[in-house]
Parts: sequence; structure tokens; C-alpha cells
Amino acid sequence: MLPTVACIHRGLFRSCAGLSVRMISRGIGQKGILANRVAVVTGSTDGIGFAIARRLARDGAHVVVSSRKQQNVDRAVAALQGEGLSVVGTVCHVGKAEDRERLVDTVVEHCGGLDFLVCSAGVNPLVGSTLGASEQVWDKILEVNVKAPALMLSQLLPHMEKRGRGAVILVSSVSAYVPHVELGPYNISKTALLGLTRTLSLELAPKGIRVNCLVPGIIKTDFSKSEIIDMCSVLLLSRIGQPEDCAGLVSFLCSPDASYITGENIAVAGFSSRL
Ligand code: NAP
Repeated sequence: MLPTVACIHRGLFRSCAGLSVRMISRGIGQKGILANRVAVVTGSTDGIGFAIARRLARDGAHVVVSSRKQQNVDRAVAALQGEGLSVVGTVCHVGKAEDRERLVDTVVEHCGGLDFLVCSAGVNPLVGSTLGASEQVWDKILEVNVKAPALMLSQLLPHMEKRGRGAVILVSSVSAYVPHVELGPYNISKTALLGLTRTLSLELAPKGIRVNCLVPGIIKTDFSKSEIIDMCSVLLLSRIGQPEDCAGLVSFLCSPDASYITGENIAVAGFSSRL
């Protein structure tokens, strides 16, 4: 059975997002710096992606949340809906072409276009030596962490271009700057995202689309539980980061206040070891 689109059921967008499109175009019901904008956040049913989705919606955007599992999408949509936020949700494993296509269809059908893409979905299936990684592990990490954001953007780009402006935020890691031992292929994938940010920012500047990169340090989520990290060496602010620490930066990068910022990699890490 195909996964269903989860729609907000109450408030101004009561009868699903078809209604929300009309209301957005009349500028009714949304307030905030991102009012009447549409955002897609991948990997947004938990952790950093969820905090970003919530923040963008609180700042007025209509947000499409997604992840691999229908029950997680339903749970996230219900939670955000419970706060009166404007969201739709759909299943999307970013490494699967058919799922990306369905996400694009959801955006077109329910939102009528797109202003912001935030690529938060990422994997790390390996803890071990870089040269011990199998070809399957390399393929999975590079496919989900590096190829998928580029392919997702290429599929969504026509719908951003129509707006004549837009913002893309990729999600790297401080392990791109200072590699974590035993996370070799993951470190490398996150370094590749810094290059992807720079290259895409050049290619898309003529279209009015800015591309920047969030570089989280250690952020308290399920994902970081599994990482092998010497916490003491990185906690300069004497606390571990929270997903919400990342969300404010993303909202800023989407906002008009960031209209002259593109191609940047910005750490939210308590300290950045980058020069
Ligand atoms: P998290 O708490 O584990 O959440 C991951 C989210 O992504 C979930 O909603 C999960 O839902 C979804 N997801 C996982 N694989 C996916 C896929 N292939 N396609 C679509 N959705 C997928 O992770 P997080 O800590 O927020 O990490 C988010 C991003 O931040 C990652 O790119 C990670 O590399 C980066 N990062 C995290 C930290 C940290 O300390 N937490 C540090 C640096 C960078 P489903 O299970 O339903 O798919």
C-alpha cells in the first residue's frame, strides 16, 4: 500500500493542504518572518530536522515534513498540528527515487511551489575503520548523505525557480572539519557536503537561490547516541547542543535578513575548530 499524505486537521488549514494553498496565496492566517513561504525539510520527524520543521512553521512557513516511516510522519504531523502549525507530511526515504518523486508531487499538489529546502536526513551505518568499510557501506553513506540532497534539489528546483528566489540548507557536521575516529566514510560524506554547498551556491546564484550549510557539533538526538566522540574535548560551552540550537540559524538563513549570504558553512557547535 502506498504511504498516505498526512494533513493538518484543525485550525486554518482544516480540510487539508489544498485549502492551505488558497489561504497562503491570499496571505491569510500566517504571521512571522517566513509567512506565506513553503519549506521542505527531509529527515524531519525527529531530532534536528524536527526542530527545524517546527521553527520554520512557527516563523510562518507552511512546512512539508518527511522521513522513512509512516508512523513517524504521522506522529510528527500530529505534534506540530497540535501546536496549530501549518504542516503536511509524506513518507520519503531520501535515497529512493520513487520517494523523492512522491515528495515533489506532494509539494506541487498541496503547496503549489517551494521556497526552502532543508536536507537534514543523514546516515552513519558504520563504526569502524575507513578501509574496512564494504562497498555497500560506502554506497549507502554517499547515496543518502551526498547524492540524495543533490538529486532532491534537482527534482524540486523547477518549483523553486518559478518563485524567482529560494534558499537551500544542507546539513553537514563538525566531523567534516575534524574527523571522528572510526566514522571515516561518514566524515568524508560530510566534508563532501561543504563542497556541494560551495558549488551549488555558484550554480544557483543567477536563479536567486542561496545555498548554505548548517554544520552541527554534538547535538542531543538519537543519532548522536551512537557516535564515538570524546565529549570533553568539544564541550567548550559546558553543555551539549540541543536540536533547537540549530533551528534558529536555519530560519535566519531562509529569511530576508540572510539575502546576501550564500555558499557559507556555519557551525552550531559551541565552538568551531575551523579558521
Ligand atoms: P535523528 O535524531 O536520528 O533523526 C533522524 C531523522 O531522519 C528521523 O526523523 C529519521 O526518521 C530520518 N531519517 C533517517 N534516515 C533517513 C532517510 N534515509 N531518509 C529520510 N529520512 C531519514 O538524527 P539527527 O541527530 O537529528 O541528525 C540529523 C542530521 O544532522 C544528520 O544529517 C546528521 O548527520 C547531522 N548531524 C547530527 C549531529 C548530532 O550530534 N546529532 C552532529 C552533526 C551532524 P525515520 O527513521 O522515520 O526515517
